[in-house]
Amino acid sequence: MNQYIYGVDIGGTSVKMGLFDEKGDMVEKWEIVTRKEDQGSQILPDIAASIADKNNEKGIGASDILGIGMGVPGPITEDGRVLKCANLGWGIFSVAEEMARLTGVAKVRVGNDANVAALGEQWRGGGRGFLNIVMVTLGTGVGGGIILNGKILTGTNGAAGEIGHIKVNPQETRVCGCGGKGCLEQYSSATGITRRTLELLERGGKPSYFDRFRREEISGKEIFDAYLAKDETGRQVVGEFAAYLGMGLANVAAVIDPDAFVIGGGVSKNGPVVIDVIREEYEKNVMFALKGKEFRLAELGNDAGMYGAVRMILS
Ligand SMILES: [Zn+2]
Repeated sequence: MNQYIYGVDIGGTSVKMGLFDEKGDMVEKWEIVTRKEDQGSQILPDIAASIADKNNEKGIGASDILGIGMGVPGPITEDGRVLKCANLGWGIFSVAEEMARLTGVAKVRVGNDANVAALGEQWRGGGRGFLNIVMVTLGTGVGGGIILNGKILTGTNGAAGEIGHIKVNPQETRVCGCGGKGCLEQYSSATGITRRTLELLERGGKPSYFDRFRREEISGKEIFDAYLAKDETGRQVVGEFAAYLGMGLANVAAVIDPDAFVIGGGVSKNGPVVIDVIREEYEKNVMFALKGKEFRLAELGNDAGMYGAVRMILS
């Protein structure tokens, strides 16, 4: 008799859902809309209904399901309680218990989405073969997840691995999304490097690689292309991006001493150059005993969260 696992990754606009076999191979994936109205009260019932539909379609009975793993965009404690998730409108409650009640599946594991994605990459993606990894996701913000001995480091409040909010510049006057100032996210996210590029272009004057684009067209890809074309602004922005990230990861390494760093998110789609510039700055900042770490690109893209969710059930 075949057995199955559901891997669920809840995002602010859609929920990514995957059906996996007992070995952890994906059978099928689909998405449903994240309904955030009424404090997000429909989100878990919608997921449960979608699972029930899939069970009917495939002839899967309750006893054929090994468990449901879930990633949630907020701090989650080890036992699956959400401690307020502004993004979805959720207050404090046990996501794991509620999901078990709605589906009749006893084994439900829940983790923070960035941490769960890191677990997915460690298991089946860019971090394959390493037990201890630090994953950094460079997108709108800078997300992070730490895997030690193949397990998510959750922390007391489910907020371990928030690498984007490590302080790297005490002189900063602008405020970060977290309320602090000088966080890594302000310099090394796609948003951060775009803002910095536009700021430097405002000062203007000289001809630049960026002259061919309208301002609103400029994002990570154009910035790394400008860097590779040896454009002065591109080189400055990527230089700052790498300097802050290299420093931040050297600080993380001093605490965690991982095998490898896995770099994901939209900015990582610019390929090996991203790794090369970060590694160079990392090596400049880190103490001798922590030199020579592996740097890898993430491989699973938007599926990482579903794989990590499944891994929580299988391990
Ligand atoms: Zn911050």
